[in-house]
Amino acid sequence: MKIFINPGHMPGVDSGAVNPVSGLRECDVAKKVGELVEYYLQSAGCSTMLLQSNNLCGEEPKDFNICASANAWQADLFVSLHCNSFNTYARGIETLVFDLSSKAARLAGCIQRQLVSTAQNIDSTVIDRGLKQRTDLAVLKYTDMPAVLVEMGFIDNDFDVVLLENNQDDIARAIARGVTDYMRGDK
Ligand SMILES: [Zn+2]
Repeated sequence: MKIFINPGHMPGVDSGAVNPVSGLRECDVAKKVGELVEYYLQSAGCSTMLLQSNNLCGEEPKDFNICASANAWQADLFVSLHCNSFNTYARGIETLVFDLSSKAARLAGCIQRQLVSTAQNIDSTVIDRGLKQRTDLAVLKYTDMPAVLVEMGFIDNDFDVVLLENNQDDIARAIARGVTDYMRGDK
């Protein structure tokens, strides 16, 4: 199985969301979790390609093109990693797919289940926001393989940020377990 891992945003170019108190940046959380997901998936026997880039699908030609790279590599699955932000009160975990009745949705369900379970074992108040359909996101729209975008928590929320800061290894293990659940055909 070839798993393409895309940590969202790009240090030095696009921080993504930033915690207003600690300054924790989405791009750094995504990069660290992505590297750990890669480690755990390789340990499980998967081939991986990890790419964090400012170029989602051709709009920044000087950077590596995420969708084109995943398609050219012929990845079996595509996982993009992000943190949410809204009004500092909203919180929880959600996983986005282009089409809720697709293989991607089954993959999203496997990842969401593992990640919510792990997060709630650490903080029982973590919210399961479920799966959401998003037809406007380039990495979901222009990838040829089942693709999901995991929103690992709200980085601007006082509670979610604690997990995003302190439990990156737990988060990565859970996401990798979700991928291997999907590969085994678990519901
Ligand atoms: Zn993001």
